[in-house]
Amino acid sequence: MEKADSTNVVVDIPATIQVKDFAERSGVKVSDVVAELMKNGVMATINDAIDFDTASIIASDLGIELKPETEEAVSGKKNSHQTDGESLVERPPVVAVMGHVDHGKTTLLDAIRKSEVAKSEAGGITQHVKAYQIIHSGRKITFLDTPGHEAFSILREHGTRLTDIALIVVAADEGVKPQTEEVISFAVKSGVRSVVAITKIDKPNANIERVKQQLSEKGLMPEEWGGDTVMVEVSAQNNTNLDKLLDVILLITDVDELKARADGLAEGTVVEAHVSTGQGPLATLLVEAGTLKKGDYLIAGSIYAKVRTMEESNGEQITEATSATPVLVAGWRGLPVLGEQFVAVESEKQAKAQSLAYAQKQKYAQNAEVKKISSEDKLTAAIASAKKIQLPLLLKADVHGSLQAVISSLETLGNEEIEVRIVDSGVGAVNESDVAMAGSTGASIIGFNVSMSGPIKQLAARSKVQTRFYKVIYELLDDIKAEMEDKLGSVTVEELQAELEVKGIFRTSKNMLICGGLVKSGKLSKNLLVREENAEQPFGSVKKLQREQQAVEEVKEGNLCGVEIVTEQKSTVQEGDKLIFVKISEKAKTL
Ligand code: GDP
Repeated sequence: MEKADSTNVVVDIPATIQVKDFAERSGVKVSDVVAELMKNGVMATINDAIDFDTASIIASDLGIELKPETEEAVSGKKNSHQTDGESLVERPPVVAVMGHVDHGKTTLLDAIRKSEVAKSEAGGITQHVKAYQIIHSGRKITFLDTPGHEAFSILREHGTRLTDIALIVVAADEGVKPQTEEVISFAVKSGVRSVVAITKIDKPNANIERVKQQLSEKGLMPEEWGGDTVMVEVSAQNNTNLDKLLDVILLITDVDELKARADGLAEGTVVEAHVSTGQGPLATLLVEAGTLKKGDYLIAGSIYAKVRTMEESNGEQITEATSATPVLVAGWRGLPVLGEQFVAVESEKQAKAQSLAYAQKQKYAQNAEVKKISSEDKLTAAIASAKKIQLPLLLKADVHGSLQAVISSLETLGNEEIEVRIVDSGVGAVNESDVAMAGSTGASIIGFNVSMSGPIKQLAARSKVQTRFYKVIYELLDDIKAEMEDKLGSVTVEELQAELEVKGIFRTSKNMLICGGLVKSGKLSKNLLVREENAEQPFGSVKKLQREQQAVEEVKEGNLCGVEIVTEQKSTVQEGDKLIFVKISEKAKTL
């Protein structure tokens, strides 16, 4: 058996490791590891996982020394520069701006920033979480611009976690809407302070008192009514009270005395990530502690970076960023995931090792997931799901955050009869392999804020793969919902019209029944279908109605009448029976 070259090879091993990864890390052939395990009574294949103790036993026979890999190194959550006794310095507040779509969030932020962002947006929705800093009265305030539509709730949740203050924007003319309620509940749950901007007060139909009333019903009581929520009445259009709003934010900041570690390696959160054609993957980071410097090595999940350039929200290149500062960072080796924590580490070697360790950990988690598939629960779920109609889709989006949001919204669309099946998803333009994948799975390609080149378009057409592109998420959701409802087809609906108690049978034949009775409820009219009380199917339809020897079109509740029913076979109706008169229609099923 081949042994490692020296008995002093030291290998870092996590609590559990796959046989093949163990072999790779220790530089021993997989077959030798499997053989050594067998010698020790452990039957394992290359894909099985072994624990640290098992690995240690075979390692000593193979001449390898094992060291447990620390949790810290794997999670990459902390860096070695963090100590408890560090000096803290004041930092700017982080304000997440939230509200119902079209309530004026972007316009308000634009007015505050005096920039042109709103004009470039599709459908008035801020598609990506953006972050920027402004200076008011010589002090910095950081804004997180969170998207408006409910489908972006994931992003908004990230927004609230990072936030000191939730700025809830409510239009004075429209008042509290479903997404306003959702935002209030996020803010309340996360325990951040809320400030309300009642905006569009310049509009003729603005009703500030009504908005305050609605907000107080949802648990945000205005200060002037004895509550503790500051509400500032603003107009972004006329620049009314914007200074007051910013003063309030700073005042609240003073109460909270926001502080952060200024020295040492930086850590924080990825608040936006996308691929730029010229610069590769870019991510907006919100530094939460320490100082981020140009040239630093960063790790966010399994992705690492060497900070090549750093750009402030005003577009200026900087070389250092401190706490609560949002910066656009270039130099990533992949696209980091929105909401992921990042940390700066001391060397490229450390960054690589941590990203590898993280990726390994993810792989184990996935393996664990795969094993569970054979369990009974998963099997039952799989059978249930197999019975459902499926709408296969392949999704492409411009950034991770949007992709996650679209996926999670689509997953909520189904019911017990139908579901969306996402055959694949990814970030970037639609490419050849997407078309191939969609073609082989029968999926439609759905692009969100992405494009498709001419040749790929032709390829899709040749392959009979449907492609659809969207810039506004609710249009995407509405379309998919309509498509699912189409697939569901229709149901037969019976509408009860009248009930008749049969008082006498006058004539029955193979294709006719004439009887008399009392209309117990509803209104009896010609052409209605009729069934016996306990039967499911109608046996005939009303041909003629008579009241007091006169032919009539309808008979109301409480009246006696004669009914001639056309039947398909001789009826079994008897005196004393109840007849049910119904209309039957086809109704499209809805989700
Ligand atoms: P968002 O979806 O919340 O970002 O909303 P927008 O900022 O895109 O605003 C929606 C619409 O309301 C736009 O047509 C704005 O011009 C308009 N709007 C925003 N703020 C004001 C305001 O203070 N007064 C008036 N009259 N209109 C406003």
